[in-house]
Amino acid sequence: MAGNWKLNPSTVQEASSLLKLLASNFIHHRDNNSAEVVQHQLQPEVIVFPPFPFIERAVSILEGTGIKVGAQNVGTAVKGAFTGEVSTSMIRSLGCDYVMVGHSERRTIFDETDEIINTKIKLALEEGGLKIVLCVGESLEEYENELLSSVVNLQIKKALKDISKDQIMNSGGGCNLIIAYEPIWAIGTGKVATPVQAQMAHVVVRKTLEELYGWDIANQIQIQYGGSVTPDSIADLMSMADVDGALVGGASLTADGFTRIVDGASSAASGLLPRLPPLPPKELTALEVVSCKNVLGESPIWSVKDQALYWISAPEEEVWTWNLIDAPYRRLFGTTIGCIALRGSSSNNGGGNLLIAGERAFLETRMTQRGENMNDFSSASGEQVSVFCDRPEQTETTRPNDGRVDREGRLVIGMYNNYHRSGSSEGENNCGLYRLDPITKSIQSLFPSNYKYRVSNCISFSPDGRTLYFCDTPTRKVYAFDYPESADGTLLSNRRLIWTMPSNLPGGPDGAQVDADGGLWMAISGAGLVVRVHPSLPGIVDYVVHLPVKSPTSCTFGGIDLDELFITTRGPDGGGLYRVKMPFGIRGLPEPEFGSSSGSGTVPMSPVSYPQQQQQQQQQSVVQEKPIAPPPVYGSAPSYLDTL
Ligand code: PEP
Repeated sequence: MAGNWKLNPSTVQEASSLLKLLASNFIHHRDNNSAEVVQHQLQPEVIVFPPFPFIERAVSILEGTGIKVGAQNVGTAVKGAFTGEVSTSMIRSLGCDYVMVGHSERRTIFDETDEIINTKIKLALEEGGLKIVLCVGESLEEYENELLSSVVNLQIKKALKDISKDQIMNSGGGCNLIIAYEPIWAIGTGKVATPVQAQMAHVVVRKTLEELYGWDIANQIQIQYGGSVTPDSIADLMSMADVDGALVGGASLTADGFTRIVDGASSAASGLLPRLPPLPPKELTALEVVSCKNVLGESPIWSVKDQALYWISAPEEEVWTWNLIDAPYRRLFGTTIGCIALRGSSSNNGGGNLLIAGERAFLETRMTQRGENMNDFSSASGEQVSVFCDRPEQTETTRPNDGRVDREGRLVIGMYNNYHRSGSSEGENNCGLYRLDPITKSIQSLFPSNYKYRVSNCISFSPDGRTLYFCDTPTRKVYAFDYPESADGTLLSNRRLIWTMPSNLPGGPDGAQVDADGGLWMAISGAGLVVRVHPSLPGIVDYVVHLPVKSPTSCTFGGIDLDELFITTRGPDGGGLYRVKMPFGIRGLPEPEFGSSSGSGTVPMSPVSYPQQQQQQQQQSVVQEKPIAPPPVYGSAPSYLDTL
């Protein structure tokens, strides 16, 4: 537990009286049941960070109480012509055991960069006996844009750049580092993060530390929560498995307040169950339900109206459909198909209306359920098929690929550079992302003209329709963007990284679909998996669906209750349609139709919301008796933040 006094109090006399009160509280505190002052380490460890001029006084007044003293900052030079600076050897020689680096006030008011913070940490580690409290945390804007993980992950990695395990652990087996997670929006504002919010952020911190130093060390590094902690909030915060302590600002300026916080923390900590490594993802297995042997099955969509699934086999120029009861059947369309969309229709014409994003043109058609079996396909010409519009990019190197309909009934369509593996200039980034309006048939670019890519995938929408997911498959990085609802030429904005495919997985993210809770299910072609990443915990895979074939290509929710995941696959070992029932509480949303607005606020509630699931998983985890092995690595937290 640490108290950060910041620029307080105003005089050395006031500082001395606060220190004396603290000293007497803590001597009594430790002496409750004994006349003798107990000379063991305070549990929890207590540190105060007074301003530089009061450090010497603090060390002398607190001597014998067990309370440690730290400096709120340190310079980046060791000695010499650096007027106004303070060095690590100076603070250590005064008796400081700790130094705080990277406090958000130093980052924002004094422009301290991650590089400066890294230098300070290295200097402190070189100064034997000095431990570090490294502060990290996101701003309100970053929090609201779901950037917590990216920001915190990046801050930690940059601050600890080139710092080894051996420097983090001291020779006595103790740890030289504490991380203080302090959301900037909670510092000094009275807005304390909820225990679940703090726990989720601390899991991100620990996961990053695990990536850097392995689980054993990550588990030993204490993570403090900071931001408007009071005697009333401390016990609930400390009941979270990954909250090891608190960094307290305002409330550490009275001896009574700070002592009550330390007391609250010790009693909560005594009831704590051991922390366990992060939960492994839940594993599911999908089974083949249609052995259609597609060369490249893709773009599965479920129509609630038709109670049928539609999908394509791209180079075979086929659209398939299956109502889960009768035999599936297919039709040929005479053009390579990128994807299909349900087509809204006011007339009751038997259903099966589709828009086909073909290489030659976008087509409209109707796949009526006529009971034909899957070998019985007919040519497109005999049935209602018409050209809807030209396709974007009338070039020979690109063709339509992945796409989904937004909540306003427009189709967002991404492209595919046929030469992307060639290494020649034809294989360069030359694809754009487009939005097709069903009424005007106009096509709007959603990326700026200089933002091009090679293979569009993962195109899908958050439940409220305001976020679009996208992956340029060769990069193996999945992004979220703010999606412009207006049709006035506004582009996608606010790019943030959701998941980087870890190096131990082959292949790349292909088609994806979002569940009603906002979790993003991505088919990983080449790895035989579909994985879920929830954008509120970027980088963490919490569900994995295994397939017996290597290349799932896309997925969607279907069935009467939208609680089954249908997965298309490609040859040569696959090609069939696969299906897996979702665990209780997970289901999809109705797929919007091209040409009919489904509104953005019509999201059915799922029985268990995502944070609740996390909490339940966490609770399950803390009652485990035996430590469980670290989970298989299906993902890493995003390694960088970048904005479009
Ligand atoms: C701090 O600045 O480190 C802090 C947590 O402040 P407060 O407790 O006043 O929000």
